[in-house]
Amino acid sequence: MPNPGGSAVHHLVTRRRLGGGTPPAALREPCCGSIDTQPVTCAGPSNAGAFTFDKVATWRDDAKAAYSMIHDDFCGPALRGIDMYAVPALAKRKLTAAVGPFVQVCQQGNIWNIVQTAEDNGNEIVNHSYTHPNITTANAPLEVVMSKAQFDMRIRNPITFFIFPFDFWTADTVKAVSDAGHFGARAGVRDTFDGFANPPLNPPEPTNDLALVFDVWPRTYSKYALFQSNDVLNQHVWSAVDRGVYAVREMHSISPADLPPQDGSQGFGPVPLRVYEDHLDFLVNAWKANLVWTSPPSSVIRYRHARAKCMASVSANTVNFDTTDPECVKFATPISVIVHTANDVPGVKAIQSGAAVFTRKLGPMTFSIDADPTAGGVTLEGCATPSSTVDPTVQLPARPMPAKSVCDLQKVIGKGGNGSMDSLDRLPEELRIIPNPDQADGRTGSWSWYPATAQGAAILREGMNGYLRYSAANLGAFAGTTLAFLGGNGAGSCYDGTAYKGIRFKIRGSVAATDSLAGSIVVSVITAETQTQKYGGDLKGVGGHFHKIIPITPDWQTVQIAWTDLDPPVFGDTLGLTHLATNKLQAIDWGVTSAATKFELNLDEIYLY
Ligand SMILES: [Zn+2]
Repeated sequence: MPNPGGSAVHHLVTRRRLGGGTPPAALREPCCGSIDTQPVTCAGPSNAGAFTFDKVATWRDDAKAAYSMIHDDFCGPALRGIDMYAVPALAKRKLTAAVGPFVQVCQQGNIWNIVQTAEDNGNEIVNHSYTHPNITTANAPLEVVMSKAQFDMRIRNPITFFIFPFDFWTADTVKAVSDAGHFGARAGVRDTFDGFANPPLNPPEPTNDLALVFDVWPRTYSKYALFQSNDVLNQHVWSAVDRGVYAVREMHSISPADLPPQDGSQGFGPVPLRVYEDHLDFLVNAWKANLVWTSPPSSVIRYRHARAKCMASVSANTVNFDTTDPECVKFATPISVIVHTANDVPGVKAIQSGAAVFTRKLGPMTFSIDADPTAGGVTLEGCATPSSTVDPTVQLPARPMPAKSVCDLQKVIGKGGNGSMDSLDRLPEELRIIPNPDQADGRTGSWSWYPATAQGAAILREGMNGYLRYSAANLGAFAGTTLAFLGGNGAGSCYDGTAYKGIRFKIRGSVAATDSLAGSIVVSVITAETQTQKYGGDLKGVGGHFHKIIPITPDWQTVQIAWTDLDPPVFGDTLGLTHLATNKLQAIDWGVTSAATKFELNLDEIYLY
């Protein structure tokens, strides 16, 4: 049976907004270490002997991995935690990230100054559209092209990277982003990834600039749903370090609270400041050990190209560059040339066009020289003052360990009684509000749908009555809509519905299909036991769910399905299960198979009984 849309990222409807009375900044005091960014100030020479060329490093200073953090929805009135907490917390550690404003909220708040301040601190400004809709080819002239022009008028470095609102994109809209002058985008297909053997990571080679894959905070939207929330950020970095690759983190605002509100009043899934600062301190220490280079996405993309296309060599005491490849010039950025010295000196002074460039001692007689190949040769000289050094003994937190079940991380036990899940009698724009105001008995869950390429579900009205409609044609994919027991899609959590006997709902519609399921809908009950780890369940592999195939008619009918009447899974790694795990419920799913050519699904009055 189909998976619920556990992979797509959906922002929440914001019912309340954080007012002017935002809590005061509470950044950690005394603060923290920081990374080195300044060239060595050489007090006197030290005889290095001959310099020899080793290689151009895969990542800056030959770190094992690269990592970018992106804060979405910057300038949003509910997300001032980004400029109040994230930007200063990064600056104290000399770390940099990307912030993704959309034009409309910066304009409405008249707060272009916070965008400029973020840039002045070395952070990258990335384009998150003009008004934050789903991007289409029809709205791309405003949302992709005009938005870039608006940002470029107000910041120093022209925008080169795009992040799609709701992480919704198509091949055509990615092309529109490229055509508008962005060379990178966060738009990778994440469905195939999990938090274990196959995490969402990008290669060292510049093969996917416009399709960077990423992980999403919070845990219930992350591929690392089986890890403690506090471990999710670091675990993604460890994944990249272990493989020598590039990790991208999507998050939104920072909250001063340890348990931030999940109702959108501080944006989508805010990161607690304490967790964020712990993560930044981890990044500083991981930098000291030369495990990870943290930098904004365009700088990592530039590096991937430049190190492959700009040739370097050493003759006598000079690093020379060959910049004849146009790609070297287009993506010009400092690359790390690794050189050896004949004598083990404390430091190396490196001068390019009269100015010192950054050097780092990686080990005995081994130095990294960071220079932009298009700025000319670099003269090297041994120095008695130490260059920035690598400290392999630095203390790092223990490797995170996953839980056995997501139920160990988040579980709500229903008492029975009020079984309301959704009457859908509310404003259409509140369809996906969390907590869902119609849920009862500890439930909070909202709606999602799949595939990601479909327009999705909406609330329609007949008189006073609202109901949900999801319709599409020729998707050629499993399609459906999902009501979670907890959170956005039920991922990473468990609801114990043992106190109830089953589900009841009203349904009407039609299904045209080329297989025997024409005229039928598959109702699946997703549990942590049958849901794959890729989508926030416990299942190591992939398998079917407990389900019931029911006829769908043009007139409303009320359907009642007991937990015990569900048919067992019919494929994959859940074959052989005989009983629904009513204590591990994640979501109810109404879907069609890829053989459906056209369907219209209307749902109303969804209850547990
Ligand atoms: Zn957004």
